[in-house]
Amino acid sequence: MGIIVQKFGGTSVADPQKIHNVAKAALREQKNGSQVVVVVSAMGHTTDYLVSLAKEVTQNPSPREMDMLLSTGEQVSIALLSMAIQAEGGKSISMNATQVGIITESVHGMARILDVKTEKITKNLDKGRIVVIAGFQGITPDGEITTLGRGGSDTSAVAIAAALNADRCDIYTDVDGIYTADPRIVPTVQKLEQISYEEMLELARVGANVLHPRSVETAKQCNVLMRVRSSFKLEDMGTLILGVDEMEIYKPVAGTAADTSQVRIVLTHVKDAPGNAALLFGKLAENNISVDMIIQSFGRTSGSNDIAFTVNKEDKNQTVKICESLLPELDKSGEVYVDEDIAKVSIVGAGMVDRPGIAAAMFRALADVGINIKMISTSEIKISCLIEKGNEKLAIKTLCKEFNLDCEEAAVVNGDLPPGETK
Ligand code: ADP
Ligand code: ASP
Ligand code: MG
Repeated sequence: MGIIVQKFGGTSVADPQKIHNVAKAALREQKNGSQVVVVVSAMGHTTDYLVSLAKEVTQNPSPREMDMLLSTGEQVSIALLSMAIQAEGGKSISMNATQVGIITESVHGMARILDVKTEKITKNLDKGRIVVIAGFQGITPDGEITTLGRGGSDTSAVAIAAALNADRCDIYTDVDGIYTADPRIVPTVQKLEQISYEEMLELARVGANVLHPRSVETAKQCNVLMRVRSSFKLEDMGTLILGVDEMEIYKPVAGTAADTSQVRIVLTHVKDAPGNAALLFGKLAENNISVDMIIQSFGRTSGSNDIAFTVNKEDKNQTVKICESLLPELDKSGEVYVDEDIAKVSIVGAGMVDRPGIAAAMFRALADVGINIKMISTSEIKISCLIEKGNEKLAIKTLCKEFNLDCEEAAVVNGDLPPGETK
């Protein structure tokens, strides 16, 4: 008998009625002849609430205690869902990451999964039970509780599917598939029947928060067949994510995304000498700070360059501190500037490889609506532009038009936010 892993996000388990609907969806899959594992997130906005609660207690909570706190959200959902399945006449058992054995690195707040023990899951599946597992959390080899980063339940589900060699991992959410842009930004975007792992991974990394990037990475590595589908329209097959070589067609641009979670840091007058960039970015890496876009200016006469780069907002203060501490070594006349008014917009498509003109078309389209580009970065299948914050919705709408990614019909979005408002 094949195994199906279903994952339901926060909106899908936001209240008791919705939890009953999820119970019915799991039982329906079991009746269709599969063994079923359900991975759930915390109810509604519980994790946001827990984060704000911690911030009321202290502005500087320890990462270990944050994980202790945040992991409780998912534990509430698994117990309630298991009760609901039993109340619907089914057999089930809930398990947290410690009970299953979801082993992660010893890093708090963004741990990677190293191993998923399958013994207890399969034992319970073989007894005819639906196994309900807490997403987003793990346990270190020393028994410490960890979390996988915001949105990480997707990754829990895919890792469990990979370990169990499941037939499929269905990510049920509040939209009925992957669209060419966030349907809350552009309501008339196209739904994709399929998208490649490579494109979805880039989209998730550049801000399409419909999937946690590491879930796509894991699915690609372990060949897990993955679908994104609606919790509210169970018969809809959503969007299939598969290898680029299995795609029937691909357009030059498959999708777009906006990201407003970064800040730009500028260091002026960095001495034009070997080792200075290595010193700066080495120090940031040592402190676990990920850098995204980087530009080094061409200092023609002064023997020094300006270096600009982007980091996540949460890393702003620490980054500034590190940069200031390095100034005496880099150049005494240097200064550190912070630019918080930025947004990054990106286009992604496997079809842009070896196709000239896509970047020029993107820059022209943005220019035509008066949007200035502050920084640019590219990969083989992605082009990102840093623009002024506040312009991202116009930019995404413009890019959807430019690359034929919109349509007449409005997308199907369920949840507590009207189209046009981002989370
Ligand atoms: P869940 O709580 O189920 O994990 P998320 O909020 O993490 O749900 O992800 C679903 C949301 O992702 C949607 O409500 C939508 O606003 C957003 N989203 C961003 N980009 C896209 C996209 N390209 N296609 C579909 N949804 C997207
Ligand atoms: N509850 C966690 C969060 O809100 C994990 C998830 O939803 O995937 O980020
Ligand atoms: Mg999510």
